[in-house]
Amino acid sequence: MKYILVTGGVISGVGKGVIASSFGTILKSCGIHVTSIKIDPYINIDAGTFSPYEHGEVYVLDDGGEVDLDLGNYERFLDITLHRDNNITTGKIYQHVISKERRGDYLGKTVQVVPHITDAVQEWVEKVSSEPVSEDGRTPEVCIVELGGTIGDIEGMPFVEAFRQFQFRVKRENFCCAHVSLVPQPRSTGEHKTKPTQASVRELRGLGLSPDLIVCRSEKPIGQSVKEKISNFCHVSTEQVICIHDCSSIYRVPILMESQGISEFFNERLQLKIEMPRPRRFMQKWSDLADRYDNLRKEVKIALVGKYTKLEDSYASVAKALQHAAIAAGHKLNLKYIEASDLEKDTKLSDPVAYHEAWQQLCKCDGVIVPGGFGKRGIEGKIEACDWCRKTMKPMLGICLGLQAAVIEFSRHILELENANSTEIDPETKHPVVVDMPEHNPGNMGGTMRLGKRRTVFQPNAKSVLKILYGKVDYIQERHRHRYEVNPSYVEKLEAAGLKFIGRDESGERMEMMELEGHPYYVATQFHPEYLSRPLTPSPPYLGLILASIGKLSSFISRGCRLSPRQYHSDGDYSGVNRSKIMNEDDLVTAAKEKLTCLTQAVANGSL
Ligand code: GLN
Repeated sequence: MKYILVTGGVISGVGKGVIASSFGTILKSCGIHVTSIKIDPYINIDAGTFSPYEHGEVYVLDDGGEVDLDLGNYERFLDITLHRDNNITTGKIYQHVISKERRGDYLGKTVQVVPHITDAVQEWVEKVSSEPVSEDGRTPEVCIVELGGTIGDIEGMPFVEAFRQFQFRVKRENFCCAHVSLVPQPRSTGEHKTKPTQASVRELRGLGLSPDLIVCRSEKPIGQSVKEKISNFCHVSTEQVICIHDCSSIYRVPILMESQGISEFFNERLQLKIEMPRPRRFMQKWSDLADRYDNLRKEVKIALVGKYTKLEDSYASVAKALQHAAIAAGHKLNLKYIEASDLEKDTKLSDPVAYHEAWQQLCKCDGVIVPGGFGKRGIEGKIEACDWCRKTMKPMLGICLGLQAAVIEFSRHILELENANSTEIDPETKHPVVVDMPEHNPGNMGGTMRLGKRRTVFQPNAKSVLKILYGKVDYIQERHRHRYEVNPSYVEKLEAAGLKFIGRDESGERMEMMELEGHPYYVATQFHPEYLSRPLTPSPPYLGLILASIGKLSSFISRGCRLSPRQYHSDGDYSGVNRSKIMNEDDLVTAAKEKLTCLTQAVANGSL
């Protein structure tokens, strides 16, 4: 196993995650199996209890792990499936060590940061790096470890020390360190300044780690002379200095990196045995995607009606999923964040300007997304947005709380159930159309939700646009994160009035997907499809929203779910997007039979 440690210098938030994922993308394009680990040096066990205002959205994995949003970058860039243990926090490591101490595993010794915590980190990294992260079950060959925060932070020290020891444990040809640093360009002088980078490299060296690569982040491209200066002062060759300036899209980053010879560098430094030179069409998929993104002319305007809109990272995966779908449909995404509470009647009196501006924004958009959320604030605004989309035939996609808001709105205005509500918002409501689920465990907020990948079965004979978008499969699997659900005792009435629950869990009791009859696209899901969206395989419900918003959904369906030639991507069609991940029972049996035949043949001809 080869390890690439990615550390940060000067300040955080300069795109260390994107840089680390881009390393992975390049290596993956060289045919290497890559996995990744993100280390967050905070004491929380996981990201589950964070407010989105703390660190951005909580990202959910297949196994139900609630993790840092950077793991989303790795999954999307590398198209892999990570596990909860791929996110290490100080809390997790201490919990692990303390429970060992309680069991008496340390045989009466004093348990200390060095060597016990540092050993635990190294063992954890070694164990997790060999877990398969792709469907073929292959053991990864390279593990990218991103250390959160910046070098010098008190919280990060035990991890830095762990890797100082680790480099000797795994040997030089199996470990390298990339240091991502900011190179500012103050307006007063207009020059790129290398001093902060020099200082942080000195600090890193002082802690016993030498950077093999210095990745300089800057707003504008950095010239050769500055590169040479960094090489001189930081004691590395110029080939070890990589400059990444702000690009038109994150898809350009791997290409920019590769143009500076990164695959050759890793090949040599980690003895990866990649064939050199790289083929002519190397990374073509990424440059096509980046070109395509840069050449989008027509625009689709989507309103996101949320409650954490002041920090765009709170909706990172939703925004990415919309972006993937918009690119596939050949449109530039113009995403407008609308604060849900600004749409509420109370705001009309307290802050009429905000109220009118919010409504103006909403009215000007082509489609609406009502994303997930927790708690009371803003829910009435989300309900208002659903009401408006339903009445004006505006395409709408509701996610999780968005589905619940649509059900509440429909119950109040069509079923005329006065003050219908969710028990999360109003525990005393006379019409609890959304209720907490039986397995809900009150009093304990961490880890009590219905989490992770679960199966949703399409109802037999259901007339459903989602079923078509998902490629006419019998069931799908998507990731969940919720405590409440539609009250089954209201389902019959809701359906009779036109709100159809076309996808349910296997017991048939949990309403997973909803569509409104007679509306061009009024769709909602209890799960979060955004977590499985990929740049080249957009999530079907999101693609549906974008196509409906640009008025292309029906032609897309009538063409057999193919995008028009201009929209058509070189990688293939979009019919049954995510198809590889979603198979019905018959397909699974056929695939297993095929595998068995191959194996039998291989054994027979002696190749196995
Ligand atoms: N608060 C709602 C629930 O717990 C919705 C959760 C969400 O949107 N992720 O069910």
